[in-house]
Amino acid sequence: MGNPARESILDALIESTFARHTSDQGGSTADYIPELAKANPDHFGIALATAKGQLHTVGDTQVPFTIQSISKPFTFGLALGIYGPAHTYRHVGAEPTGDAFNAIVLDEDSNKPCNPMVNAGAISMSALVYDEYGEDAFEVIRSTFSSLAARDLEMDESVYRSEKETGHRNRALAYLMRNTNIIGDPVEEKVDLYFRQCSILVTARDLAVMAATLANVGTNPLTGEQIFEPLHVRHILAVMFTCGMYDYAGRWAVDVGVPAKSGVSGGLIAVVNRQMGMGLFSPPLDQRGNSVRSIKACIDLAEELGLHAFEFTNAGSSVLNAYL
Ligand code: GLU
Repeated sequence: MGNPARESILDALIESTFARHTSDQGGSTADYIPELAKANPDHFGIALATAKGQLHTVGDTQVPFTIQSISKPFTFGLALGIYGPAHTYRHVGAEPTGDAFNAIVLDEDSNKPCNPMVNAGAISMSALVYDEYGEDAFEVIRSTFSSLAARDLEMDESVYRSEKETGHRNRALAYLMRNTNIIGDPVEEKVDLYFRQCSILVTARDLAVMAATLANVGTNPLTGEQIFEPLHVRHILAVMFTCGMYDYAGRWAVDVGVPAKSGVSGGLIAVVNRQMGMGLFSPPLDQRGNSVRSIKACIDLAEELGLHAFEFTNAGSSVLNAYL
C-alpha cells in the first residue's frame, strides 16, 4: 500500500490540473482519417498509474478512442521481443527526423526508415510481426496490447475501414520499403496489419497502465505479467524520448523531460522511469498533431511533481547517493 496522504495529494493535483485546462478551446480534431473528425472535442481525461499499480484518474478516462500512433512503441517492443535488437535494427533506425510523421522518406544510406515512431518505421515493425505470425499477427498485437492494459481490448471497425480506404500515403511508404527490401511480401497484408493496430480502442486509463508497464521495466504492475524484457524497455523509452512527440519532441524534452508518445486521436502517454505511467486524452490537436489539453496538463504535472529526467532539484539516484 502507498501512503494515503501522498495519494490524496496526487488526486488533488490532477483534479486542479484538469480544472485549469478543461475549458481550453485551442486546437482542432484530426480529419485526415474521416472517422476521427467525429470525436467529441470536449473530452478530456488524465490517468496516472504508479509503478506499484495505484491508479489516479480524473475526467473522461473511460472514454474509448483509437490508439493510433501510441501503438508504435509497443509494436516496436513486440518486434524486439521476437527478433532481438540486432535484427530489428536491420529494419529500422533510431535517429530522430525533422520530417513529418508520414513523410515519404527513408535514410539515404541504409534505405531504412529513420525510427519506429514515424509511420514508415512503424509499418516496418508491423511487417516484422507479420513475418513471424502471418495471419495471426493481429491477434498477437491485440492480445499483447491487452496484457499491457490489463484489459481485453478490441478494434474499432469503422475507424479501421476509414483508414484502410484513405491510407494511400501509408501504402506508398510500404511499397517504397518493399522496393528496398526493408519489408517483403505480402505488402497489402502488412499495411492492413498496421491499420488494424492503429484502430485498437483504448481509454486514458488503459494508456496509463500501458505506460506504467514501461515505467515498471516491462512488467505490468497490476497483473505482475512480464511483457517486455527490461533491456528492450530501454530501447523503447530511448526512441520515445527522442522521437515520440512529432516535431515537438525537442521542446517537449525541455519542458516535460520524460519519454512520451502521442497520437492523432488525441491520446498521449508519458513514462516516468521506475515511477509511473501517465495516460491522457483530449481530441483537439495543435499544429504539430499533439493534444492541446494533454500537453498543457503534462507541463504542469512535470513542474509540480518534479518529473523531468534532468530535474536540477533531483539529487541523483539512491545508489549513487549512498557513495556521496
Ligand atoms: N494511423 C495513423 C496514420 O498512420 C496514425 C498517425 C498518428 O497517430 O500519428 O496516419
